[in-house]
Amino acid sequence: MKKLILLCLILIADFQQVQAADFPFTLHKLQSGVEGPTILIIGGIQGDEPGGFTAASLLVTDYEITRGEVWVVPNLNFESIIKRSRGVYGDMNRKFLDIPVNDPEYQTIRKIKSIITDQQIYMILNLHDGSGFYNSKYVDKNENPRRWGQSIVIDQATIESEAFGNLEVIARNAMRSANTKTNSNREKFRLKNTRTREGDKEMEKTLTYFAIKNGKAAMGVEASKSYPTGRRIFNHLRFVEAMFDEMGIEFKRDFQLSARSIERKLGRDIQLVMFNNKILYDFDTPRKRINYVPIQKNSTIEFRTNNPLIAIINSAQSFKVRYGNRGFTTLKPEYFDYDNSLTEVPMEVDGVKLQVSIGSMVRVSQNFMIQPMHGRRVNVIGYRKSGQRNESGLLIHKKQISSRFSVDKQAEKFRVEFYKGERYSGMILIDFSNKSKLKAAAKKLMPAS
Ligand SMILES: [Zn+2]
Repeated sequence: MKKLILLCLILIADFQQVQAADFPFTLHKLQSGVEGPTILIIGGIQGDEPGGFTAASLLVTDYEITRGEVWVVPNLNFESIIKRSRGVYGDMNRKFLDIPVNDPEYQTIRKIKSIITDQQIYMILNLHDGSGFYNSKYVDKNENPRRWGQSIVIDQATIESEAFGNLEVIARNAMRSANTKTNSNREKFRLKNTRTREGDKEMEKTLTYFAIKNGKAAMGVEASKSYPTGRRIFNHLRFVEAMFDEMGIEFKRDFQLSARSIERKLGRDIQLVMFNNKILYDFDTPRKRINYVPIQKNSTIEFRTNNPLIAIINSAQSFKVRYGNRGFTTLKPEYFDYDNSLTEVPMEVDGVKLQVSIGSMVRVSQNFMIQPMHGRRVNVIGYRKSGQRNESGLLIHKKQISSRFSVDKQAEKFRVEFYKGERYSGMILIDFSNKSKLKAAAKKLMPAS
């Protein structure tokens, strides 16, 4: 099972000068088509809490909802996530009571408020990474009433609502079920009721209390920062899944729910499609740097990806690709005018004749040949035969391509680029790995809601 969604971000700006508006958050509606309740899951309200925002992004990329609906905003404070900052413009989770019109996050807050108050939403989970371990009794410096980690935070025990108004009971039920999945006493979730209405001036400014005041059930989920990211994500997901069960939302996922298997998934299987299918890179693990990327002259960078934590930042003659708060790869550009007249390429793949769409990936086990095309030059990046300017009509084996020119560290994926005179017409990606199926990744990317 694999889901591809489209993020369309257009961005060309210096890293230092970007605005919140340059990194809009995305809303992903995971719809089952089967009637049931809708929950909204939010990650990344603070940029330095990767457990929460990565857990939310995994819901988007790796879960299928089979009853009810799950709406996910995995990257609410996307700019702060990318910049590894708690909040580039201050703490976003204190801006829900009132916010000056000139605040750089004014529009972001407006947009998320309108999603929270959507009539379809009955429950909101705001995913955080919190310090230490919450305990209503003082145990030690790291586990006491002032800590937040491994707690489910509610503002009050009940709210007036058509459904799920019994916040404390629902939270306790989901916690009990989630807590069966760990043997560590410290790791078990505990309930923290901030009793916000009784005069907690700080908590009054938060997202969850805004939701509560609007008659929506809402909770904070705090995974402990004492754990590494994979384990925090695991803790988030086991509570989120328990809440799905509690609400009657059904789902499937194609990985085992453990910290180790989650860790292995992070930053894997990422596709980057640029300039309307003119460039396709598909990575399991990308090289640190990809050279000679044929970027369109005098154009803003336009890209789509299957992962909501991917961002591209223009920085000092190169394009830095980020996966959340981590560096992913760097694209070194070469600038070209584009030619839009090529849509398909005639190929022979392992002896079979095919028409391959520009911007797709082709699996090859032995060899391939690009059939000569009138007026087109073919460049197999890294192909070693010297003195050959046009590499069409040649039967090419993997061993004839220099492995360091692959886009991936495993040296299995290679670029074939097409040119018309000096203009760039597009590329296809050759995949020599034997595990993946033939796929036209660019074609499967679908619009996000
Ligand atoms: Zn937080």
